Amino acid sequence: MILTDEPMAKHCSLRAGGLANEFFAPADIDQLSSHLKTNKKTVIFIGLGSNLLIRDNGFDGLIVHTKHLKNLGFDRDSITAEAGTTLAKLSRFAGANNKHGAEFLSAIPGSVGGALAMNAGAFGSEIWQYVASVKTIDNNGNIQQRSADDFAIAYRSVKAKYGDEFFVSAEFDFNHPEKNIEARDLLDKRNASQPIGLPSCGSVFKNPDNNFAAKLIETCNLKGFCVGGACISEKHANFIINQNSATAKDIEELIKHIQTTVADAHGIALETELVII
Ligand SMILES: Cc1cc2nc3c(=O)[nH]c(=O)nc-3n(C[C@H](O)[C@H](O)[C@H](O)COP(=O)(O)OP(=O)(O)OC[C@H]3O[C@@H](n4cnc5c(N)ncnc54)[C@H](O)[C@@H]3O)c2cc1C
Repeated sequence: MILTDEPMAKHCSLRAGGLANEFFAPADIDQLSSHLKTNKKTVIFIGLGSNLLIRDNGFDGLIVHTKHLKNLGFDRDSITAEAGTTLAKLSRFAGANNKHGAEFLSAIPGSVGGALAMNAGAFGSEIWQYVASVKTIDNNGNIQQRSADDFAIAYRSVKAKYGDEFFVSAEFDFNHPEKNIEARDLLDKRNASQPIGLPSCGSVFKNPDNNFAAKLIETCNLKGFCVGGACISEKHANFIINQNSATAKDIEELIKHIQTTVADAHGIALETELVII
């Protein structure tokens, strides 16, 4: 069923943003493919919305929510996961099957599709290190199998050589000889340094080369600074919290204020990790 004028604040972890003109959560990949064959609107995919902000004036297109695409299993020795599988579930599944390397994913509150699009990473590992192949779908509903060589992959950046395609599943090789970190230690580390449980998108800015965005923001004394209902976390300076019914505009203005202040003080241009549409 296609929903119209769906509030995206419901689906984005910052709990802010405008309406999606059309919103579709396909039951499976076949239904997704059939729908895309007739769709004429601009398409965006969304997973857990933990790195996405839709501006207050909304998105005049089709948002595809992958929440029902969550098949997870084995293909020979590799783990295959559909785009809507949560990273926590993928990590647990790998661990339960004595496949090591996926531990770091348990700390990232995203889906497989969102993590592939962002090259999500933590504690020195990134998801594309473990990708054997992916399946993509284009705007006409055609499925393709792709390898890592079909993408330019960098720190929190993935650019497809084939243009507009979306991830529907991936095959992973988690073949580390041993666990790279214990899930418990990882969650303890997160809880100690990040405002977990409050509406945020994780790190708003990418770390510049040889530097840390949080350190640059902190040295500008910006912790606790607010625009409208959006505030810089007191706990972690690279987190913006939706403290009091922030609009997407509040968040974007706060982002611009941080960028200007850091550029003036340090001569460094902070680039957002958060995707703003
Ligand atoms: C508390 C907190 C902590 C976080 N910690 C980390 C961290 O340690 N490391 C890290 O890397 N990130 C972190 N993040 C950010 C976020 O969780 C990751 O970027 C995650 O991979 C996003 O996945 P998602 O499913 O929520 O993507 P979404 O937010 O839904 O989408 C993000 C982008 O991916 C695109 N996208 C989504 N699904 C698909 C698809 N199937 N095909 C193509 N494009 C798609 C969207 O259009 C959008 O451009 C954190 C976020 C929070 C809230």
